[in-house]
Amino acid sequence: MDTLTAFSLDMRTLNFVMILFSVIYCIGLFLFAQTQVKTQGLRLFALALLVMGSGPLLISLRGVVPDWISIIVANTLIAISFHMILHGMCQFRGVKAQFAHTFSWIVPVVLALNLYFTYEANSINQRILVSAVSISILALATAYVVIVGKHKDYQPAVWTMAATFGSFGFFMLFRAFYTWNSVEIYHFMNADLVHKLTFLFSIFLVVASSFSMLWLINMRQLDDIYALSYFDSLTNLRNRRALDSYTLALTDEEEKLKCKLSIIMLDIDRFKLINDRYGHVIGDKVIKAVATQIKGTSNAPKAIYRFGGDEFIIVLNNQTIDFTHFLAESMRTRVVEHVRVDGMSAKVSCSFGVAESLCDESWDALVARADEALYRAKQEGRNCVQIASERAQLIANV
Ligand code: GH3
Ligand code: MG
Repeated sequence: MDTLTAFSLDMRTLNFVMILFSVIYCIGLFLFAQTQVKTQGLRLFALALLVMGSGPLLISLRGVVPDWISIIVANTLIAISFHMILHGMCQFRGVKAQFAHTFSWIVPVVLALNLYFTYEANSINQRILVSAVSISILALATAYVVIVGKHKDYQPAVWTMAATFGSFGFFMLFRAFYTWNSVEIYHFMNADLVHKLTFLFSIFLVVASSFSMLWLINMRQLDDIYALSYFDSLTNLRNRRALDSYTLALTDEEEKLKCKLSIIMLDIDRFKLINDRYGHVIGDKVIKAVATQIKGTSNAPKAIYRFGGDEFIIVLNNQTIDFTHFLAESMRTRVVEHVRVDGMSAKVSCSFGVAESLCDESWDALVARADEALYRAKQEGRNCVQIASERAQLIANV
């Protein structure tokens, strides 16, 4: 018994397993899609899996149903399913549908060649060749769409999806070359290992692509949750929770800062008055405009946090207090000169407190000193910058 015979795979069994997998995954993804209103292309992808499975189902009915169903319709459906996947992937990854349209010629060509190689020049090999080449083109195009897609997706999941379609596309190319160079097959169900492996590879494609799809969607949701919990919706700046998790990483068990930090704390002057005089909608616009000007001054937008209502904190790593003071002063003048809100005549200003961390200081103590400096800035008449004194640390630690 040679190796190939010893490693025997039953074509019909493989066929039914393939159909079973495509039906199960199609139903599963469809049910999942009901809760994914935002995800584009998922339903089309799920439907494509069902169409993909129906091709082998019809092939397995050879002899039971007419040839035009078990050959022509079956092979055309398989080509259609890969075209649907390409379309679905364009929607999912944010690639223009035009790209998928450029491959629309494949389905009619597959249909025409199958008609020719069934009724004019009957040849199973030629039909396999047509099928393998067309699937290879569509699978490789899908891998390309996955890679170049505009949607900001989790890269390991993107590459898993791309590798799935890429490897399937190259396998189909290999199958085409193999078929080209092999003797004519007379009974497809008795075809050799490479053709049987096609079914195994198709099962792999259904499982791996569905898994990658779920992984990608899951990561998109995690991103949404992250944005909701760590970003302020009004200013798009990081919020207090984000600052807490950042500072947690900077402090050890004894809650002492591990590195040298400088912070700028700022608060909009007489903001309650703005709200009272112009209303909360204008008040919100003022907060947004102040945030924009602060972002414009700093080259590290990630380090700016909305600390509370009209209060912001900027965290600087390894910067001198002189630089921190200079930055705060630039922010102060920028706010006064550039914050303009329609429907409001008064100028907007902010008061600033800056502090540099001391040896063995805790985050809370550093913030307390910056807060004390900010309080002094308010006392000094507002619209100014004050540097925290070291003495304030003693007060904070009492
Ligand atoms: P001071 O110069 O001493 O800072 O005076 P102030 O009036 O600005 O006083 P304070 O900073 O305590 O006022 C903050 C106000 O900001 C209180 C609250 O009503 C308002 N506020 C907090 N969050 C928001 C918000 O998201 N939108 C609007 N419009 N107002 C907010
Ligand atoms: Mg204020």
